[in-house]
Amino acid sequence: MTDLPKPLVAGNWKMNGLKAALCEVDALEEKIASHLNLKCDLMICPPATLLCSATIAAKKVEIGAQNVHAAFSGAHTGDISTEMLTDIGVTAVILGHSERRADHGEKSAQVAEKVAAAQRAGLLAIVCVGETKEEREAGQALNVVSRQIADSIPIEGSNADNIVVAYEPVWAIGTGLTPSVNDVAEMHHSIRDLLKGMFERDGDKMRILYGGSVKGSNAAELMGVDNVNGALVGGASLKADDFFAIVEAAYL
Ligand code: PEP
Repeated sequence: MTDLPKPLVAGNWKMNGLKAALCEVDALEEKIASHLNLKCDLMICPPATLLCSATIAAKKVEIGAQNVHAAFSGAHTGDISTEMLTDIGVTAVILGHSERRADHGEKSAQVAEKVAAAQRAGLLAIVCVGETKEEREAGQALNVVSRQIADSIPIEGSNADNIVVAYEPVWAIGTGLTPSVNDVAEMHHSIRDLLKGMFERDGDKMRILYGGSVKGSNAAELMGVDNVNGALVGGASLKADDFFAIVEAAYL
């Protein structure tokens, strides 16, 4: 594999964090400043209420959103557009997270519309896919993930600079459980093949993150797997010390 962008370690704060939590972004910036040889990019995706202040606080850390509406503007109460995000310095958006698919019935077709909107505005789309426990036990993990990728990422307009795929087995999110290294390797290898089939040379360069109970103690092993190009981190991203422990274990 050639010309792969730097791995990405992205923190998804979900619905956590009041203004005081921005000190964690400051703390992360301090850590980066004293580790100039970092071998990964870092991103924090705080709740929408903190995005604007976070982009002001962040220098090296990228700031991403957790969701967006596909339309440019209009009568969509409570929603925000990709252009509103770029307007305040946000550079990425998480799309199709399993919690949005489950809590809000988001389908892959809607995710694809949001991905196209992200591209319209110049945002990096972090597209989440992953099977449930039942689907894995039924031997359907690869089918489910392949279908989600094919239906969530539009062929037109997608490339290695604007798409990151996050493989997040639903049963590993927030549970402390992780798949075996072999299972991660097998899934990421299959995702790579699928992306190459869909996007040719760009598919070879798209970053594929692993997400689900990543922490400092398992990061080196998980990030060392072939075709794992970084992590999407939930719980362990809320404190700069815990988040940076992942970076220290895998990318220093
Ligand atoms: C997530 O929800 O994207 C996630 C990976 O959560 P956690 O790290 O807490 O499992």
